[in-house]
Amino acid sequence: MRSVEEALDAILASATLTSTERLPLDRCAGRVLASRTVTAAIDVPPFANSAMDGYALRAADAPGELRVAGEVAAGSGAPPSLEAGSALRIMTGAPLPPGADTIVPLEDAVESDGVVRVPAATLGAYVRPVGLDTRAGEQVELPAEPLTPASVAVLASLGIGEVEVRRRPRVAILSTGDELVPPGVALGPGQIHDANSAALAAAVAEAGGEAVALPPAPDDPVATQALVARGVAEADLLVASGGVSVGRRDHVRDAIERLGSLDFWRIRVQPGKPLAFGAVAGRPVIGLPGNPVSALVTFELFVRPLLRAMLGLSGDGRRRVRARVDEQLAKDPERRAYLRVVVQRDGEGYVARSAGGQGSSQLRPLAAANALLVVPEGIPATRPGETYDALLLGGSE
Ligand code: AMP
Ligand code: MG
Repeated sequence: MRSVEEALDAILASATLTSTERLPLDRCAGRVLASRTVTAAIDVPPFANSAMDGYALRAADAPGELRVAGEVAAGSGAPPSLEAGSALRIMTGAPLPPGADTIVPLEDAVESDGVVRVPAATLGAYVRPVGLDTRAGEQVELPAEPLTPASVAVLASLGIGEVEVRRRPRVAILSTGDELVPPGVALGPGQIHDANSAALAAAVAEAGGEAVALPPAPDDPVATQALVARGVAEADLLVASGGVSVGRRDHVRDAIERLGSLDFWRIRVQPGKPLAFGAVAGRPVIGLPGNPVSALVTFELFVRPLLRAMLGLSGDGRRRVRARVDEQLAKDPERRAYLRVVVQRDGEGYVARSAGGQGSSQLRPLAAANALLVVPEGIPATRPGETYDALLLGGSE
């Protein structure tokens, strides 16, 4: 049985970078730049401008009464020059008139009959100098994460209308089991709704990939093999769920072995001990456990980092905190557990509480959880008062 680290290393070793595509900037949110460094072609801002609605003047002329010689609006082209002893009314974002060096905000000035009375002013006040954000020629490095609205804004301000981004990894999703019917279809005796197809598609999207739906596989070896083969033909990797254990109707592991090669099929992790990993047609194939909680937790631990690696990102992109636990939460002493908890601030630190039943079929505690509490191998339960690592889901706290 592999440790979590050994399994993750083997899975990450199978990662290949996806190709890139050029997209208009307004379709790039959440995408990953092929190169996170861009060379600025222009200064930002491109010209000195006013940070306030007010009056443009020379600091040397204040305090005093100045003739108002005109008005400069944002976007009104090249501004008029300012003559000594006068002022120009100016709007936020309008270019600083040649000759002016300072802005006095509207609320600090009193204008009547074409004359404005201004108090003493500090040279350069409320002027945004050219290149305040970025100088032309500068190397602008963006965070190594999917593009946020702020990063998109930086690119737009630099005048970049199209960017080269990594293609989203295509992930074929295969649920297995004779008992499964799709949500929206009434259940017959002994049937349950297929939770994993929709859940794993959502997890793929959250990790930056694109899910490719396959019909659920019946518990039949030939049908399972056909769908695994179809999945790797249509996608960059295949993620199956169910059918990886030692039951007589578990055919996923067998399909990997027959069509390609199996690397391992068990991990010292709870939930998720039966997890098959191998390759078919040169593409990674991961058989997650069938229980929906196990499937989603092991996706988080093993598939999410793989998809990120294929996008050129490192790690799992999650924050971790140390959290105190005041309860005794039981676990398998042999395996590292990832318990579903709610983490909250508690004074200087954090406290974690169980989000509900820890059974691997109990989905609602997973939905309620904002973190997975990492309880190491070698102990049978959390010790009240002890602190543990908590992996924050969704990057939240
Ligand atoms: P298995 O690994 O196939 O033996 O499945 C383990 C448990 O997970 C069984 O109770 C299955 O009914 C359940 N299960 C497997 N696949 C799914 C699925 N796609 N949605 C919901 N439950 C599932
Ligand atoms: Mg099954």
